Amino acid sequence: MSEQSSTHYKNTLAFAKQADADDTLARFRDEFNFPKDEAGNNLIYLCGNSLGLQPKKAKEYVAQELSNWAELAVEGHFKAKIPWTTYHEVMTKSMADIVGAKPGEVVLMNTLSTNLHLMMVSFYRPTAKRYKILIESDAFPSDSYAVKSQIKEKGYNPDDALLLWQPREGEHLNRFKDLEALMAEHGEEIALVMIGNSNYYTGQKYPIKEITQLGHRYGCKVGFDLAHGVGNIDADLHDNGPDFAVWCTYKYLNSGPGAIGGCFVHERHADDKDIPRFTGWWGHKMDSRFNMRVDFDPIPGAEGWQLSNPPILSMAPIRASLELFAEAGFQNIRAKSKKLTGYLEFLINELDDDRIALLTPKNAEERGCQLSIQVKNADRSMHDGFMQAGIICDWREPDVIRVAPAPLYNSFEDVYEMTQRLKELLATL
Ligand SMILES: *Cc1c(COP(=O)(O)O)cnc(C)c1O
Repeated sequence: MSEQSSTHYKNTLAFAKQADADDTLARFRDEFNFPKDEAGNNLIYLCGNSLGLQPKKAKEYVAQELSNWAELAVEGHFKAKIPWTTYHEVMTKSMADIVGAKPGEVVLMNTLSTNLHLMMVSFYRPTAKRYKILIESDAFPSDSYAVKSQIKEKGYNPDDALLLWQPREGEHLNRFKDLEALMAEHGEEIALVMIGNSNYYTGQKYPIKEITQLGHRYGCKVGFDLAHGVGNIDADLHDNGPDFAVWCTYKYLNSGPGAIGGCFVHERHADDKDIPRFTGWWGHKMDSRFNMRVDFDPIPGAEGWQLSNPPILSMAPIRASLELFAEAGFQNIRAKSKKLTGYLEFLINELDDDRIALLTPKNAEERGCQLSIQVKNADRSMHDGFMQAGIICDWREPDVIRVAPAPLYNSFEDVYEMTQRLKELLATL
């Protein structure tokens, strides 16, 4: 749809259908399997922030590797159509494009929390004077646990060594100014700034470039958790320059429950063999990896942080998903996402109901695709009401519905239908 119509949304089904007809990415919807109701109709799926839908090709790609295993056994490492020893390489470019990195800066390995630990082993190097970690106050629990455990493992106390960037009294969103003030006060004590992007609860997207520059100005290392950003925000990791980033691939990257995660290490660290790290044989240079009995010699770049040979059966669905991202082009995806989420916001505002409030920033540059809708006096029964109406979205205690129109497979009509149901449910409150 044109720029002009995006600013002239209409609260009608006809408008939604026309926007879908004009959407150049609309055909990608057919590349995914939607869950269905008992009558076999597709449910409206707005939960890509939690688990993305299955690309139809995923099954074929997994089946292909099961066949390779059956027919080639150990030879599959070298003789499979995509040899297992280098299986991850076919995805490196498309993965790097999505996060705005150079191919050598990105690797698919392990899972998110594991990668976060590995990155902190390398980039959280506390000294007597500089030993603190700064995170956002409502960080995702796993990140918060991981950070606290690293602090303790290094012999410090999180009560002292963990600093929180928090919203002001009565507000939901974090202000960059407050981060600047925190850094001005504590910058010299901070070893690592580790921020999620976007925030899982409010959907607020933090400015990677500004935060990175701020952290570096005070001599801190800076890392990002892109779990809720990857696949729906432009991270531009290389240019924005954080030291590392980690993400999972099962949310907006549609790669299956518990699928392996991604990791970015900035190019400036690529050849630094002195960075302490936890190591395994898969991080060792390929040409001498199988010589055994040689000293560890890391692959330059992010691949040097690999520990194990990767689970091919988990890599196969990622391949299916990343092919779709590459075909659609990430800039197109982000452009559609802004329009689609903008439409959702428009329709929610049209409800004109003072029991609902949007926690997510209004500015499209300060959010990804997710909107977090707070509903006064609602409880989980609202979520159950959506489920009964054939809409899958997600409920966060105490009173927030998270709605994430995923640009690759959601439609303007999905968003329209969702807000119609919301209106009906509000009438019953
Ligand atoms: C989803 C998510 C996780 C989950 O971590 P796993 O190790 O993949 O289970 C961690 N952090 C954030 C911010 C998330 O959104």
